[in-house]
Amino acid sequence: MDILYKGLAFDNQISVTVIEATEMVNEAIKIHSLSPLAAAALGRTLIAGTFMASTLKGEDDRLSITLSGDGVGGHIVVAGDSFLNMRGYIDEPHCELPLNAKGKLDVAGCVGKGRITVLKSMGLKEPYTGSAQIVSGEIAEDFASYYTFSEQQPTGMALGVKIGTDLTCVGAGGVIFQTLPGATDEAIDKAESLLLTLGDISSVMQNEGAENFVKRAFSDYSYQTFKHKYSCVCSKEYIDSMLLTLGKRELYQTLQKEGKIEVHCHFCNKKYTYDEEAVNNLIINAISKKE
Ligand SMILES: [Zn+2]
Repeated sequence: MDILYKGLAFDNQISVTVIEATEMVNEAIKIHSLSPLAAAALGRTLIAGTFMASTLKGEDDRLSITLSGDGVGGHIVVAGDSFLNMRGYIDEPHCELPLNAKGKLDVAGCVGKGRITVLKSMGLKEPYTGSAQIVSGEIAEDFASYYTFSEQQPTGMALGVKIGTDLTCVGAGGVIFQTLPGATDEAIDKAESLLLTLGDISSVMQNEGAENFVKRAFSDYSYQTFKHKYSCVCSKEYIDSMLLTLGKRELYQTLQKEGKIEVHCHFCNKKYTYDEEAVNNLIINAISKKE
């Protein structure tokens, strides 16, 4: 079951988040028909995004993350809210590469070089934006570096997505440590050595699951649990309001040119189609609402 553990460990000096995300990655594979490589890259970004969303405080807070690298996968976009409804897409969902020197999916080659950009809207006038260089393309290192340099928050992170022979995800998850101000070297050392000896977090999720891992790995973890899932927020009403912001003239010009208006949601692959009658109704309803 997909679940997120969040709390303090290592003498209350390190914030620890453990995420199991196998179902979420399988949902992304199903929606986007992802190749194993694309599933690993988008899946790891979804897990990092879930962690980031779990740090949002307000009910209406939202975030979006863009990895704009020059790898074979193209750009990766993940969005989510404080209720941990997560969604995402990758430009090239069917991309493939030979396995890397370690015999693993070449996520670094999929992502390439470029930047991570994070946008958080937290009820303020201006959204918060942060940005950092992609350091390796392996995603965990990239987000750890983003936190350290852009948000001045020392962070250790392990992320993993394992794809089985039937092309479904058999294990996916992450472990994230953030040191609290004034943490002792001893606590930091303990956390670092756990990350180093952890092995592959996707195998941990496949073989024992987050619950057993949490019991085994930490002696003093006081945590809360949260549920997260792949979930798109698009709806007919949302697309209606988005189209109306384009204006009547633009809508009828597109109708004339294309014969219909088609809107594609990248996050869930749903298509919304408007013929002339639908556009007429949209505009009449908008006018009558105003009156
Ligand atoms: Zn959608």
